[in-house]
Amino acid sequence: MKLRNSNIEKLDQEIFDTLVIGAGINGAVSAAALSGKGARVALIDQRDFAGFTSQQSSNLAWGGIKYLESHDYKLVWGLCKSRNHLMENYPSRVEEIRFYSTIEKGFRHHPRFIWLGTWVYWLFGRCFTSPPRWLSRNTVKTEESIVRTDNFYGGFEYSDAFLPDNDARFVFQFIRSAMDRGCIAANYVESLGARRDSDLWVTRVRDAMTGREFEIRSRVLINAAGPFVDEHNAKTGEKTAHCHVFSKGIHLIVPQITENRRVLTFFADDGRLFFVIPMGNRTCVGTTDTRTESPFSEVTEEDRQFVLDNINKRLNLTKPLTSADIIAERCGVRPLVVKAGKGGSNERDWMQMSRKHEIDVSNTSKHISIFGGKLTDCVNVGNEVATYVSNMGVVLDNPDCKWYGEPPASVREEYLRQAQSMNLDALTDPAATEKLSKRLWRLYDSQALELLAEIREDPREAEILIKGTDYLRCEIRLIRQQEMITKLEDFLRRRSKIALVTRHEDIRHAEGLMEACRILFEDQAQAKFDEYFAQGHDKVSTKDEYPQKAA
Ligand SMILES: Cc1cc2nc3c(=O)[nH]c(=O)nc-3n(C[C@H](O)[C@H](O)[C@H](O)COP(=O)(O)OP(=O)(O)OC[C@H]3O[C@@H](n4cnc5c(N)ncnc54)[C@H](O)[C@@H]3O)c2cc1C
Repeated sequence: MKLRNSNIEKLDQEIFDTLVIGAGINGAVSAAALSGKGARVALIDQRDFAGFTSQQSSNLAWGGIKYLESHDYKLVWGLCKSRNHLMENYPSRVEEIRFYSTIEKGFRHHPRFIWLGTWVYWLFGRCFTSPPRWLSRNTVKTEESIVRTDNFYGGFEYSDAFLPDNDARFVFQFIRSAMDRGCIAANYVESLGARRDSDLWVTRVRDAMTGREFEIRSRVLINAAGPFVDEHNAKTGEKTAHCHVFSKGIHLIVPQITENRRVLTFFADDGRLFFVIPMGNRTCVGTTDTRTESPFSEVTEEDRQFVLDNINKRLNLTKPLTSADIIAERCGVRPLVVKAGKGGSNERDWMQMSRKHEIDVSNTSKHISIFGGKLTDCVNVGNEVATYVSNMGVVLDNPDCKWYGEPPASVREEYLRQAQSMNLDALTDPAATEKLSKRLWRLYDSQALELLAEIREDPREAEILIKGTDYLRCEIRLIRQQEMITKLEDFLRRRSKIALVTRHEDIRHAEGLMEACRILFEDQAQAKFDEYFAQGHDKVSTKDEYPQKAA
């Protein structure tokens, strides 16, 4: 809480080059790019960082193979390039993964045609990943016996990438790097709207934790409010060429379906691609794509049944999955960009609507709005926003700064040398899901060196603090200092994925959780614990927690 309090005190003390509203992926990369290149940046979010759409994705960094069907070749070409770029720059956080696909008799395309499509996709991906592979019925039976083959028409395997620590942590790591480069960021600070005052933007904000209102001054205003971009523009009187429409998508997290670390891919009854994705020692199943009018969404019984029916139909499970198997749920809306006044008129347009991003810029009012986009394309969004800001006359002292990516190989090698010399992996708790050296580097990169120093001093620091999770005592202390945990949910749902892979009741009774709360919140530990469990977070959704704003 100290970091948040001190940042909030700084927000009304100076004139920032840019204020970024919204800390989902688009706001996070804008802040990271601008801070890295030398701008003075403030970043606020009404909720926690990545507390809305950017915590509800399929966790894929992918080239969008399915957009080949809608002939959106330019988008696939660009997304494949962005995916490769992420894989190169985040060798531990963006992992190549095989997509194991089967199609059934009666499908709209012959399997050989889709097989050809996987090769086109691989070539679009500049042959960066392992090549595709044809799967016969027998291969599928031997390699992935839970996949049903009675109606088998053809199968193939190809590569894309995924985020093993989930989307919200990936987003937070950009915010952390922005803060390391001077960005003043705060969660739970809402913009109430902004006005021009001579050549400055004056944004009125409200600290959701205290109710205090104050103003932030900036030369440029960046609206990265995701599904709320239009709403915020209406508040500031900004007119844009684009606007958003929404598509709802859900995922269900269930016990691990297969131990093979691959994504199983099917075409669901509505003809859309449907994934079974590894999530730690669980499996994440989804998604859906339904047009909706509101940014706020909830998993309905119909959505749940659609996903369960589709999965049960295509897998040979000893017992079909039911609602009782659901450990957690994810639900969000994709903010899709359209030309203002055009809303994707028919169903076909809707299903094929492009997932690209658009950035609307007003050089007169020094205002930027970011529409649409994907996690996969985030580095491009950051670079484009920085160029627009520089064109508005903000001087960037370090324009060529490479503001993204894991630390250089030399830092990683030094970390691994130290980890090996202290035999760190031998200290891995037998209940942990992965070796300490790999996990700590992926989550904290160079900050993991501090953890090694603490463990060297006292090896008990490598013991798991919260039973049933992988989290160590020294990690929780680092998180308190560095990760702005304001509510317990911020830690359980976004900085970690505990709330997604552990049942709500099991978390409540986890030995060590209260001690972790004491480290994170000191004398407010019990209150934060009670607040979290009073809200029933086992079915996490983005339903409207601010009902007065829904109209
Ligand atoms: C079901 C689903 C699956 C997806 N799968 C993938 C995938 O696998 N790969 C991929 O690349 N992309 C995927 N996407 C797309 C991707 O998740 C989104 O495009 C992206 O997260 C949108 O980020 P954003 O920053 O624009 O919006 P958000 O993440 O919603 O961020 C906007 C932020 O602005 C804040 N905000 C709003 N109003 C205010 C205000 N007045 N003051 C302060 N803050 C405010 C909100 O609280 C929010 O945190 C998926 C999306 C969905 C819904």
